[in-house]
Amino acid sequence: MNEHDSENIGGMLEDMGYENCDDKDNANIVILNTCSIREHADERFYGKLGQLKKKRLGDPNYVVAVCGCMMQQEHIVKNMKKKFPWVDIIFGTHNIEEFPRLLQTCMEKRSKVKEILSDRDLVPERLPSSRLYKYKSFVNITYGCNNFCTYCIVPYTRGREKSRSIDSVISEVKFLVADGVKEITYLGQNVNSFEDPDGRDFTDLIYETNKIEGLERIRFMTSHPKDLSDRLIKAYADCDKLCNYIHLPVQSGSTEVLKRMNRKYDRDRYLGIVRKIKEMVPDITISTDIIVGFPGETEENFSDTLDMIKEVKYDSAFTFLYSIRKGTPAGEYDDQIPEKIKHERFDRLLNDINKITADKNREYVGRIEKVLVEGISKNNKSKLVGRTEGFKLVSFFGEANLIGEIISVRIINANTFSLEGEML
Ligand code: SAH
Ligand code: SF4
Repeated sequence: MNEHDSENIGGMLEDMGYENCDDKDNANIVILNTCSIREHADERFYGKLGQLKKKRLGDPNYVVAVCGCMMQQEHIVKNMKKKFPWVDIIFGTHNIEEFPRLLQTCMEKRSKVKEILSDRDLVPERLPSSRLYKYKSFVNITYGCNNFCTYCIVPYTRGREKSRSIDSVISEVKFLVADGVKEITYLGQNVNSFEDPDGRDFTDLIYETNKIEGLERIRFMTSHPKDLSDRLIKAYADCDKLCNYIHLPVQSGSTEVLKRMNRKYDRDRYLGIVRKIKEMVPDITISTDIIVGFPGETEENFSDTLDMIKEVKYDSAFTFLYSIRKGTPAGEYDDQIPEKIKHERFDRLLNDINKITADKNREYVGRIEKVLVEGISKNNKSKLVGRTEGFKLVSFFGEANLIGEIISVRIINANTFSLEGEML
């Protein structure tokens, strides 16, 4: 979500006549878009901001702006004003479309500007975007979140959930397709609770999107298991453009922990959904998010998570150490897990997951996969990289003029985090 916000801010700057500049020392404007999801992200922000101080104080024409989730928290903004008074512009998640105006005010009046809204009434329907990739694009369909998982800061920084209208989303996708986009990823904290002002739901949006000529691939992120409908599972069979891939965060394999996380599903219900998806779409790839060391997590609860990953056999998993977030219910729980135990469990989980991921990847050797070519490999300039429909990263020898094409690749080797192939 933050990455896409950055693309939008980049798009607004381009519309104002600015150009992207890779070196922050040669730039006129530096914007730090912050994330609050875990403490580590906060720390990185302060480190990066500190690096800008000397340049800012020595150059009156240099503008430093900060935005994003961290700025939606009062204690952080207070701290910013005290420790970083030289920052020129502070804005939040609910008014990114106002950035051009804030920048102009700052430049014309040479004054500090701070504008943070507590929530938004209307969702921005279409913002300019400086896309990271020419051939694929994110598309916001909902903003905010109403789920209040007890560990999570997002409902406090992104406000209440609001959906865009299907017509507006579809017209944005058509515009993107005309601009060369082949793959879109619908974005929302819980796409399954999307509801168009006319009452149409996320599955309706998928069926509508599937009709768009020229679009090749549809993905979405994130799907909350509590709201995943049988109709959506059926859409995988009906919609040829919907990629056979789902990111389905489980967070924990323990019903007890899930309850304390306020996730509103239990272990059996989650496994039931996975079973249904695999029945409908046998070659689906599944990824997940897992939090280790949630307050009160016992060794037994943790072993339920280890069992869960073996049962589901995830293709990949994003694993996180539980991080206390100020203002969230779990941050106040008094049965916090000692860091040493958290790390020890984290290492065990990673070890098990990596084995499963490697096994799953090995099953691909010999198969022919359709790959959307994304760019040149960072490790070997004569190789290209792309993603399979199941979101697996594949590298193979090929010419740069194939970037943006969907081509057939035979998988010849499997690593833990990627595949190697040869073009057919
Ligand atoms: N809306 C998405 C997730 C957004 S946050 C969903 O519900 O799945 C992305 C991931 O960060 C979450 O799935 C969770 O695994 C992790 N996360 C969120 N808050 C966290 C915290 N306080 N500590 C550690 N991980 C956290
Ligand atoms: Fe956070 Fe839960 Fe909302 Fe995801 S669904 S953003 S984890 S509160």
